[in-house]
Amino acid sequence: MMPDDALPGEAARPRAATLLAWYDRHARRLPWRAPPGTAAQNPYLVWLSEIMLQQTRVDTVQPYFLRFAERWPTIEALAAAELDQVLTEWAGLGYYARARSLHACARAVADHHGGLFPRTEDQLRALPGIGPYTSAAIVAIAFDVPATVVDGNVERVVARIFAIETPLPRAKNELRDLAATLTPTKRAGDFAQAMMDLGATICTPVKPKCVLCPWNGACVARAKEIQEELPFRDAKKPNPTRRGIAYWLIDTSGAVLLRKRAEKGLLGSMIEVPSSDWIVGAAPDVPDGAPAAAEWRRLPGLVRHQFTHFDLELSVLAATVKVRNADGLWTLPDKFGDVALPTVMRKVVQHAMRHTHDRHPGQSGDPGVETMPMFGVAESPGSPLPRGRRKKA
Ligand code: SF4
Repeated sequence: MMPDDALPGEAARPRAATLLAWYDRHARRLPWRAPPGTAAQNPYLVWLSEIMLQQTRVDTVQPYFLRFAERWPTIEALAAAELDQVLTEWAGLGYYARARSLHACARAVADHHGGLFPRTEDQLRALPGIGPYTSAAIVAIAFDVPATVVDGNVERVVARIFAIETPLPRAKNELRDLAATLTPTKRAGDFAQAMMDLGATICTPVKPKCVLCPWNGACVARAKEIQEELPFRDAKKPNPTRRGIAYWLIDTSGAVLLRKRAEKGLLGSMIEVPSSDWIVGAAPDVPDGAPAAAEWRRLPGLVRHQFTHFDLELSVLAATVKVRNADGLWTLPDKFGDVALPTVMRKVVQHAMRHTHDRHPGQSGDPGVETMPMFGVAESPGSPLPRGRRKKA
């Protein structure tokens, strides 16, 4: 049988037209997307979605994208928002530096570019939070400019199509160069999104659906029957584990002491349950860094969370005070949805409330781990790198 992607008399090779024809029939419907064949799209919405999709699953991003687009429908509206408002809407999506950069970028575009996104990759990369991947995606999708858009999905597809056995991340430049050979001069935005969709729905990390693949006739890895093994990856060093203590301090009305983290650094400007330093080694076993003198009791179990470069284990100590004896944001649990609590702190809240619910008059019973009505959204996985989705920009 003639390979799907070969013309009579020529060797099979992955042709952009074949992938685009598949995309015309099978494009995923996503709220930030225009239908296939639309030459250019709203740069603000393209940018917003691409920032949110860094390191984060499509289904996790969708409700956040819709809320942002409704609350701040233009770059000027987002630029006029307060950073705390943006962080609060972002809470639960993880990688919070993105939210701070998003806000800074909106202000830069509004203040220095007349509210219009620049149309070149170089100019875009000069803006906060926009790296090589995001700048290429914006020019391709928003402006239909030929650009090679390479995320984790595309790396996997290209590694398989050309059977590249050099492990990642060493293979990155080679895969980028090969991806560039596939990129067409027309329908650049559709092609970029088609590659993403192929990787997300057909050329999946596990059990790729080669029978349904529009490029199956041109795929060297499939011909060699090594597609499930690719791409190879260099062994990754295991993450260190840091440990610390979170302090759950409540007053007799049920209000909980929260505080704002420092502007710079991990989870900068987000709201937290006060905690000790997070250090590699044994957990502190005395109230190290407690926000107030109180009769602290250790709650059973640990709160665990994965960050990009370390794993975290937090013990939770709880105490009740008659008089508010520490500065901070004393907040009733039914108002937690109004503050920018990152995912790790939502886990602390859930853990603490599960073990102290008798002390929270406004909350009855075990609130459960998976759903917390006070937050209004399902908990997102936060940190783990989703399979087949973006590398950090
Ligand atoms: S044939 Fe299979 S391995 Fe090759 S690109 Fe298509 S889905 Fe991926």
